[in-house]
Amino acid sequence: MPSEFEIIERYFNWPSPGAVLGVGDDAALVRAGPGMDLAVATDMLVAGRHFPRDTDPARLGHKALAVNLSDLAAMGAHPRWALLALALPEADEAWLRAFAQGLAALARAHGVDLVGGDTTHGPLNVCVTVMGEVPDGAALRRDGAKAGDDVWVSGTLGDAALALADLQQQVRLAPQEAAAVLPRLETPTPRVALGMALRGIAHAAIDVSDGLAADLGHVLKRSGVAATIELARLPLSDALRARLADERAAGWILGGGDDYELCFTAPAGVREVIEDLGRDVGVPVTRIGRVDAGAGLTVLDGDGRPLRLAKAGFDHFG
Ligand code: ADP
Ligand code: MG
Repeated sequence: MPSEFEIIERYFNWPSPGAVLGVGDDAALVRAGPGMDLAVATDMLVAGRHFPRDTDPARLGHKALAVNLSDLAAMGAHPRWALLALALPEADEAWLRAFAQGLAALARAHGVDLVGGDTTHGPLNVCVTVMGEVPDGAALRRDGAKAGDDVWVSGTLGDAALALADLQQQVRLAPQEAAAVLPRLETPTPRVALGMALRGIAHAAIDVSDGLAADLGHVLKRSGVAATIELARLPLSDALRARLADERAAGWILGGGDDYELCFTAPAGVREVIEDLGRDVGVPVTRIGRVDAGAGLTVLDGDGRPLRLAKAGFDHFG
């Protein structure tokens, strides 16, 4: 059995060219560029709560970082550094190797250095902290939406919820449908380039981690505005579109978690700019509604009637 120090040395002591000092001292040293704010976020994944205990370790390593990068993307920040706090029930080296590889591959793809963390014995728990840079005053915040803005969303919605329903045998997806939506649940793609490209263009942004209705609701509340979105305009995968007649479909689309898409608002004058930058970064962006004066979210169904939102997103204590 490797010791705690051998685990760190073998699996988590990577080169960190972007830091002043990486793993190995009492604290890492990082330096933000001149005129940059440091955007800092942390997200914890608990076995049995956020993922099954037997989840593929490489995919778990990816997801633990991806959900954090998604938070930085939603701020328009450029990810630079990460910390990893890990509680492990046992020192399973095959598991650790795969987990570290999954984490490292995504970190490398984004030029993120793992600069430190903590390793302890306990029920499986993965907590990643990320830091990124954003020019002073340019962060995309939740409180900037204005009446008259369009509401946009990236990618497609509800695929992770549909994949989870399939894993839990609540639906039966065809193999090619499962192959399309399972990666959305297990190895989500943080929309980092899109978030950075939206600096100076979007008025407000959030990443969709608890379902569109809940997350857009946070933006509206923080901004002191209302919005109306149309169910028929929401971007959907073929697998989800094929299940629109299912009474659970609206729940997957509006209330399913784990989409990790960006929802943002922007003035109508920049519609073409946004469509162009979506093409530039290779992420489809769809205009789904409008911000108005007032409070609360209205979702219109296919006939233009307001939908009753039974369960607006996932709340761990709800
Ligand atoms: P301390 O007792 O001072 O907290 P530790 O023994 O916990 O130090 O950690 C030693 C070094 O290894 C520190 O630089 C710490 O940031 C790093 N480290 C510990 N666990 C991890 C991990 N899971 N991933 C990355 N770095 C880690
Ligand atoms: Mg420590």
